Amino acid sequence: MKTIANDDSTLHDLQEKVKQLSESEARAVHAAYHDFLTGAPNRAAFQRELSQRLNGDAPYSLALIDLDRFKYVNDTYGHAVGDTLICDVTDRLRGLLPADAFLARLSGDEFGLILATETAETAEAVCQQVMQACASGFDVNGNTLQIGASIGLFLGQDGGLRGVTDLMRCADIALFAAKRAGRNRVCRFDKSLDDNLRRRRAIEAGLSKAVPHGELELHYQPIIDANTLAVAGFEALLRWKSAELGQVSPAVFIPIAEESGLIRSIGDWVIRQALNDCRDWPDQYVAINLSARQFNGADMAQILRGHADDAGVPYQRVHIEVTETAFFEDARGAAETLGALRTLGFGIALDDFGTGYSSLFSVKNFPLDVIKIDKCFIDGLGIEPQAAPIISAVIHLARGLGLGVVAEGVETDDQRQALHLLGCSHLQGYLFSKPQDRARTLAWLKARR
Ligand code: C2E
Ligand code: CA
Ligand code: CA
Repeated sequence: MKTIANDDSTLHDLQEKVKQLSESEARAVHAAYHDFLTGAPNRAAFQRELSQRLNGDAPYSLALIDLDRFKYVNDTYGHAVGDTLICDVTDRLRGLLPADAFLARLSGDEFGLILATETAETAEAVCQQVMQACASGFDVNGNTLQIGASIGLFLGQDGGLRGVTDLMRCADIALFAAKRAGRNRVCRFDKSLDDNLRRRRAIEAGLSKAVPHGELELHYQPIIDANTLAVAGFEALLRWKSAELGQVSPAVFIPIAEESGLIRSIGDWVIRQALNDCRDWPDQYVAINLSARQFNGADMAQILRGHADDAGVPYQRVHIEVTETAFFEDARGAAETLGALRTLGFGIALDDFGTGYSSLFSVKNFPLDVIKIDKCFIDGLGIEPQAAPIISAVIHLARGLGLGVVAEGVETDDQRQALHLLGCSHLQGYLFSKPQDRARTLAWLKARR
């Protein structure tokens, strides 16, 4: 038989256990819905909150915030500084957001924000504030850190959504668009973004099969000596006829191939094919376009050399066309690769001259043989008064450095004459020939002789 005292202590123990249990449960619940580092709600909490808003009647909008350059900070200053920065960003945002806003940390450097409005102006104004707050420097451990934010915004009023996943996807598409547009900006979702993305995905999926399915082809466009009008070389330009999408322009698919990394295998195919084809015209060089992505990271000198040896083509008969973007990520690496290629005897052309950020920097710092003046300057000849002086200055610069100059996109005889007078060494454009397949190129060359 139990005593009263015994009963009391059992009851007390029980109560204590229940209390402990509910405390640890509360802690577990808190941990499940909060971010360990900042104490802010986490992704699970964000999705729960979003689902409530989606099913409720109150207005809402959703913003996804991605910090720009955070990875750089982490890599340069270490994770401790990165962690502190994330906490500081969280505090700063909490300080400026309206009381009814819901801020969560979704992953490393991504935040989610739910606002109690679906008016475009109000939501965009808050996003602008967030962006400015992120863009004004942070002091962490004596370092001034400069980051920024890209924001994708979805307004509840744009509706028509099935669930939280759909909602997040739309905001994510807008975020992707903000990043692609150059970061540090707010982009609002609209349906055309979604259509664009679908098309991109289709192109990417098609491209991944383009090499094995034999859908790629190289066309060649002659590069003409401006003095003798002899054919100096041919530029290889890639063509893709997709089984599903039809003919797709390289201006569309090359950037997608670059972003997806597919450019490596495609570029490899281009190099091998161009080196193979150019054996048909032993008196001319072949110019091969290389994109930045191909250039960085891989040992391009080794790859080109290997393929040229396999094809039995002397290095002197191969020109590489690169744009300045190849130099941005790893300027020293790029300079070394170009140097190695040039020592071997490959020609180096700087493509699209004048359209980048720092053409003069590139000319000064990288070993080059040729500058290709972008078509947009040639288009201006005889139309815009600045065109001729700019072209003339570029030609003088090139001559002073001992470089050749190719004018791109020459379409009329007036342009040809003007460029010849200005001292341009080589010409390329529809005036002479459009890019054509290998068989037509050979026929064209034969007829010209
Ligand atoms: P790009 O290297 O600047 O090539 C010149 C572009 O101008 C080509 O467009 C060519 O067809 C076009 N073009 C040449 N002359 C004229 C003209 O007189 N008038 C007009 N309106 N256009 C002219 P395309 O073939 O569409 O290529 C576009 C871009 O795609 C190229 O610009 C290049 O950046 C890229 N690309 C093409 N093939 C390859 C490749 O194999 N690898 C890489 N990485 N990029 C490539
Ligand atoms: Ca080119
Ligand atoms: Ca070009």
